[in-house]
Amino acid sequence: MNKPQPPSASNFIKQVIEADLASGKHKAVVTRFPPEPNGYLHFGHAKSIVLNFELAKRYGGRCNLRFDDTNPEKEEQEYVDSIEEMVRWLGYDYGKALYASDYFDFMYECAEHLLQAGLAYVDSQTPEEMQHNRGSFTEAGRNSPYRDRTPEENLRLLRSMKGGKYPDGAHVLRARIDMASPNINMRDPALYRIKHAEHHRTGDKWCIYPMYTYAHPIEDAVEGVSHSLCTLEFEDQRPFYDWLLDNLAQGGLVKRPLPQQIEFARLNLTHVLLSKRKLIQLVEERHVDGWDDPRLPTLAGARRRGYTPEGFRRFAERIGVSKANQLIDFGVLEDCMREHLNEIAPRRMAVLDPLKLVITNYPAGKEELVEVPNHPQKPEMGRRQVPLSGELWIEREDYQDTPPKGYFRLYPGNTVRLRYGYVVKCVGYDNATDSVRCEYFADSRSGTAGADKYKVKGNIHWVSVRHAHACEVRLYDRLFQAEHPQGVEHLNEHSMKTIAAQLEPGLKNETSDTAVQFERHGYFIADRGGAFNRTVTLRDSWTAQKT
Ligand code: ATP
Ligand code: MG
Repeated sequence: MNKPQPPSASNFIKQVIEADLASGKHKAVVTRFPPEPNGYLHFGHAKSIVLNFELAKRYGGRCNLRFDDTNPEKEEQEYVDSIEEMVRWLGYDYGKALYASDYFDFMYECAEHLLQAGLAYVDSQTPEEMQHNRGSFTEAGRNSPYRDRTPEENLRLLRSMKGGKYPDGAHVLRARIDMASPNINMRDPALYRIKHAEHHRTGDKWCIYPMYTYAHPIEDAVEGVSHSLCTLEFEDQRPFYDWLLDNLAQGGLVKRPLPQQIEFARLNLTHVLLSKRKLIQLVEERHVDGWDDPRLPTLAGARRRGYTPEGFRRFAERIGVSKANQLIDFGVLEDCMREHLNEIAPRRMAVLDPLKLVITNYPAGKEELVEVPNHPQKPEMGRRQVPLSGELWIEREDYQDTPPKGYFRLYPGNTVRLRYGYVVKCVGYDNATDSVRCEYFADSRSGTAGADKYKVKGNIHWVSVRHAHACEVRLYDRLFQAEHPQGVEHLNEHSMKTIAAQLEPGLKNETSDTAVQFERHGYFIADRGGAFNRTVTLRDSWTAQKT
C-alpha cells in the first residue's frame, strides 16, 4: 500500500494558546473565520472552520464569522448567504455575521492617524514606477520622490482621494517603513487604493478601499481576536501585521493585548481541486451540475453527497494542523465519512442491478412481513417490517450458471439465505423470463426455531417485486481520475453513473438529511426529487486499484 499516511493530529496551535492563557497574555480565546464572499466554501475552508470554532469551544471562547469584503468588485450576496448556511450546517453558532466593511470608517480614521504620525504617505508614482522602485529579492527598493511629503499635504491629498477627486490609480496611500527591508512586504506596502466601484454593502459611499493586508489586522484588533489563524502564504505578512497594530496601539486606536497571527498549512487533497477559481471554471463550463453538484469538493456538494459535519470534524482532527504543507489522500476523508455513517446510518435493502428470483413452491398470492434490525450493532435503533413474497429482486451478480471457485451465492443446486428471510435452493435459471428459480424451506425463516439447522455460506439481500420502489440511483465517483489534477483535462469520465434500482418500499418516502446504508453496497442519501445519491462505498476501491 502506498497510501500517504495522515500526519499525527498534533496541534501546535493548542500549545501556543495554552501558553498565552498560562502567562496571562490573553484572558479569553477569540478566533475568527474570515472568508471573502467571492465564491462557495470548499473542503479547505472546512478545515479552517472546524479548527477555529473547535479551538474557541475548547477554551471557552468565541469564534466570529467575518466577511472580508474589502474588495468591492468580486463580492456578492449570494455567496454571503451560502457561506452562512454552510457554517451553520457544519454545526457552528457564530451569533451574528460580521463584516469588514462595517469598520471602513475606523480603518480610515487609522489611516489619518498614521499620516499624522509620519508613518504613512500618499504616493503619486505611476503603478509601473512603484513596481520598478520596489526592488527585488536581491536588490533593495528605492524611496519614492513623494515619500517626504508633509503631514499637512498628505492629509489634504488623502481627503481629496476619499472625496472622489482622482481617477483610479492616481495615488496610493502607503505605509512609511523601510524600502531596503529584506522582507519585500515591509517596503512601504500599500494601505489604500482609489477604486470607483460600488460595494455590495456600502454602495457608493467609498471610492477608496483598504488593502487586505491593512484591513485584516485592524478587523482582528477591533473584534478582540486573540489568535488569528491563517494559511502559510501569509507568513511574510506577519511583520507588517505586528508593525501596524503596534503603531495603532501606541496611538491609542486599538487596545492591547494585540491579536497574534499564527500560520498553518492549507489542506490539499488528492483527486480534487481546492481553489475557488478552478471550481468556478468547472461550474461555468458545465462540467458539473451547479455549485452543489455532489461530485464537487464544495460544502454545498458535500451535503448533497451525504457527507456529514461530524465526518469533517473527525477528518480535521485526524489530519491535524502543522506548518508543513499537507497532501492528504482523498481516501482519508472518505474513511472519516464511512466511519461516522457506519455508526449512525440505518440499514436498508436495495437492489442496484436487479435480476428476478421466483420461489416456485411459495404459495401463490401469499405475502408476509419479516422483521429486520435497523442496525446490526445498535438494537436501540429499532426494527422494521419488510414485505416478502414469492417473486423477489436480487442482485444480478448473486447468481452464476457456473460458479467460480469460492462462490457461495446462487447457482443450480446451491442453497443461500435470503437475508432475514428463508433459505432457498436454486433449481435453475429460466432464459425466457430471465429469472432464477428457487425452492424455499418453509421452516427456515430467520428467528424461528428451525432456522438453525440450515447451514449456508451465502446470505443475499432482496426486495419483493410486488412491493418494490423503483428508483433512480446515482453512483458518484471521484471527479478527477488523476491523483494530482491540473484542470479539466483530468476529469474522470465515469464520475457519475445513473441506474434504475429496486428499493425496499419504506425508502419511497425517505426524506432524511442523513444517509442510509444500502446493505452490501454503501451509504446513500435521498436527494431532492426522490433519487438517491451514493455517498461512499463500504470499502475503499481506489487504494486497492493502486496496489
Ligand atoms: P481559495 O484559495 O480557494 O480562493 P481563499 O483562501 O481565497 O480560497 P478565503 O475566503 O480568503 O479563501 O478563505 C477564508 C479562510 O479559509 C482563510 O482563513 C483561509 O486561510 C482558509 N482557507 C482557504 N483555503 C484553505 C485550505 N485549502 N486549507 C485550509 N484553510 C483554507
Ligand atoms: Mg483569499
